[in-house]
Amino acid sequence: MTRPTEPIELLGTDHRLAAAAPLPDRFVAALASACATTTDLAATADASRDWWPLSMHWALQGQVLQRAAVVASPTSVDEVAAVLRACHEHRVPVTPAGGRSGVVGASVPVFGGVLLDLTAMQGIVAVDAVSGLVEVWAGTFGPDLERELRAEQGLTVGHFPQSFDIATVGGWVACRGAGQYSTRYGKIEQMVAGLEVVMADGSVVRTGGHPAGAQGPDLTQLFLGSEGTLGVITRVWLKAHPVPPHERRAAYAFATFEDGLEACRRILRRGATPAVLRLYDAPESQRGQGGDGSYCVLLVLDEGDAHLVDAVMAVVAEECAGARDLGDELLEKWLHHRNDTSALQALTRKGFVVDTLEIAAPWAALPRIFDDVRTAMMAVPHARAATCHLSHSYLDGACLYFTFAATPPADEVEATYVALWDAGSRAVLAAGGNLSHHHGVGLNRSRFVAEALGSSLPVVQSVKDALDPHGVLNPGKMGLRSPFGEVAWP
Ligand SMILES: Cc1cc2nc3c(=O)[nH]c(=O)nc-3n(C[C@H](O)[C@H](O)[C@H](O)COP(=O)(O)OP(=O)(O)OC[C@H]3O[C@@H](n4cnc5c(N)ncnc54)[C@H](O)[C@@H]3O)c2cc1C
Repeated sequence: MTRPTEPIELLGTDHRLAAAAPLPDRFVAALASACATTTDLAATADASRDWWPLSMHWALQGQVLQRAAVVASPTSVDEVAAVLRACHEHRVPVTPAGGRSGVVGASVPVFGGVLLDLTAMQGIVAVDAVSGLVEVWAGTFGPDLERELRAEQGLTVGHFPQSFDIATVGGWVACRGAGQYSTRYGKIEQMVAGLEVVMADGSVVRTGGHPAGAQGPDLTQLFLGSEGTLGVITRVWLKAHPVPPHERRAAYAFATFEDGLEACRRILRRGATPAVLRLYDAPESQRGQGGDGSYCVLLVLDEGDAHLVDAVMAVVAEECAGARDLGDELLEKWLHHRNDTSALQALTRKGFVVDTLEIAAPWAALPRIFDDVRTAMMAVPHARAATCHLSHSYLDGACLYFTFAATPPADEVEATYVALWDAGSRAVLAAGGNLSHHHGVGLNRSRFVAEALGSSLPVVQSVKDALDPHGVLNPGKMGLRSPFGEVAWP
């Protein structure tokens, strides 16, 4: 069984926030009869963190932000339902977790209580090869899903996030994730055909199940991106494609990022959707794509039916006619190093603040966001770098993915981290971007939600109140009200 991957060594089991309320005795008894549990200090501390870069600094100080009182590991839908019923009845916070590869503290149990580890529910349940639908347990990790699907059915889901090895299907869905081939296959919300969700009171609902519908609002989409606050996803039906028989690659050099953006826009506006379309600014082109700092690299890869791929690549070539053709060798390199994140741990151990901020915006807003975010971040004391690439494209806009770094003194790591996020997020929102494209909100971005959602936040809060009346599901996240109080962070 595949297990979550440790983000960085955890050198202790202390918690930074005040101790959470102890669990009621009757609840402990109810939970013990629901499924396997542990209260082991090291196990609960380890399960109480994710890949949020700030928590990596705390881990090296022997701390997590908060520690769950107990980790519950259900192996069936009935066991998940029994855990939720007990939490609902006894008003105990319960935080679902998959691979714990989230980067915004979404699975950190900020009010203690139960950490619901879903990774004991793994594997493909069934495949409908005629329709191209795969039914999979939420705790299944990416490689396990794709290996079996490809080998036994000749199918692929086509969802390849950089965290493919360390994230689960349930986490993809709960965070509205995006894979590196998203311009052809779509974001996860386009891949999900239906869900099984256990509600806060332990009832089980099934959503979707048809290719399209007009029987009221789409409940599947309601749970997509709900980050464990509206229900626990136990089973997912995903659309699958034939394993692509044909692939083509290309790379181009643009004089400016804006020129490259315009080419990407024109490619998408013409209806071409190359699986990979990644445009790096000059510093990122130099850092990772063989550039010399004077140009911006565009990587392109498409796969699928040969006729379609050739047509797409012909459009790409026409729209990149004014750029320098770099051949296709850069793609080979990118394919080899694209999921390597070892630099993150190495830099964290040296005391660097390093993180990424990904947003989406209409094409018309992207040039300003590209400028404003880097300028705002570089104005933060101790900032060293703020760079950008375009990673996912749509008919009407794209995702810009900023990487930033700072070298503050040890006692200013947290303040610098918070200041960089404040500067970057506010610059994005002011220029017409959204709060997140695929990493989600979690704890780190909670403070910006009111600003980002505006008049729709009360609607989201009403949905939360209706589906989880005692507020036990992942409280303290996504800018939603919590009956357990305010989270004392930042
Ligand atoms: C190096 C690195 C690269 C990354 N690259 C990408 C990328 O390319 N694309 C991308 O989209 N993301 C990326 N991420 C972010 C992260 O991997 C994704 O958000 C991923 O989808 C989280 O899945 P998980 O199983 O690890 O979820 P977790 O981190 O365990 O949980 C994340 C959130 O989902 C909730 N949740 C998890 N499972 C369930 C469930 N079954 N039911 C209800 N709620 C649930 C949790 O409560 C939490 O709120 C990256 C992360 C890292 C560390």
